Amino acid sequence: MGTIQLLRDARSARDWCAETRAAGHSLGLVPTMGALHAGHASLVEAATRENDRVVVSVFVNPLQFDDPSDLEKYPRDFEGDAELLAEAGADMVFTDDLQGFFAEVPGATVDSIPRVDPGPAAAGLEGAHRNGHFEGVATIVARLFELTEPTRAYFGEKDYQQTLVVEHVARGLGFPEIRVVETSREADGLARSSRNTLLDAAGRERAISLSRALFAARELFRSGERHPLNLRAELLRHLEGVEVDYAEVRDPEAWSAERPVHLQGRARALVAARVGAVRLIDNLALDDLGKC
Ligand code: AMP
Repeated sequence: MGTIQLLRDARSARDWCAETRAAGHSLGLVPTMGALHAGHASLVEAATRENDRVVVSVFVNPLQFDDPSDLEKYPRDFEGDAELLAEAGADMVFTDDLQGFFAEVPGATVDSIPRVDPGPAAAGLEGAHRNGHFEGVATIVARLFELTEPTRAYFGEKDYQQTLVVEHVARGLGFPEIRVVETSREADGLARSSRNTLLDAAGRERAISLSRALFAARELFRSGERHPLNLRAELLRHLEGVEVDYAEVRDPEAWSAERPVHLQGRARALVAARVGAVRLIDNLALDDLGKC
């Protein structure tokens, strides 16, 4: 296991990154909310393959939660996270509180921090179901980029709409390169998520229906089906025992809040559903044209 530096304030993290860059090292950044699992480790491993040094941020960002109880019960385990990150090859992990990340806003609160524009991909689906979510994501991601000035930053395909938002933020700043890492899944297909630890045994069983629905829609797409409504019906047919927030298909290259009338080349199915009190999301490329 490698050694990892633990920093508990944003200012020290900024200095560490500045020194690393000044020494001529390329720097990979992996932003996370902690409660880390093998999915996060796969991002860190991808980052270690492409960069001299890898830094991970852990911050349960209150700006991106529209539901206070969801924020409250989000799992937290900084020491455990550091162990997993050392194992995966990260060089430094840092955290801070809202005031530490936004030190230029005196007594910063969720309401007083100016938001960064998340761009057109924030429209619809997660953006429609979680008020202000992507503004909160864009704001913290821009701040993490400014603090660490990474060469590359790594995000999971699991949060597909988020990757489009993050690409918009990076285009605006002119850096870093954004890398999207394939979704890591349990053996039965369930996408790994920090929230899975909140599921009881019955909920864990029901949660499988999300990935099952996505893989069924991909089969249908591969058999030639291109009508979004028929693909959506296939998703819904498999989403059993969960409360569906949305089950939709989008063209990732022509993102819109509305369902496309027809699909030609690229297609991605995206689902969000509540299993009891736990909200889960997942998505899958239906076409074989993209990398992720
Ligand atoms: P989170 O801690 O949930 O904010 O996730 C931090 C990063 O890890 C995000 O870029 C996520 O998309 C990514 N991530 C979370 N779960 C997975 C997974 N199962 N596979 C790949 N990446 C993931």
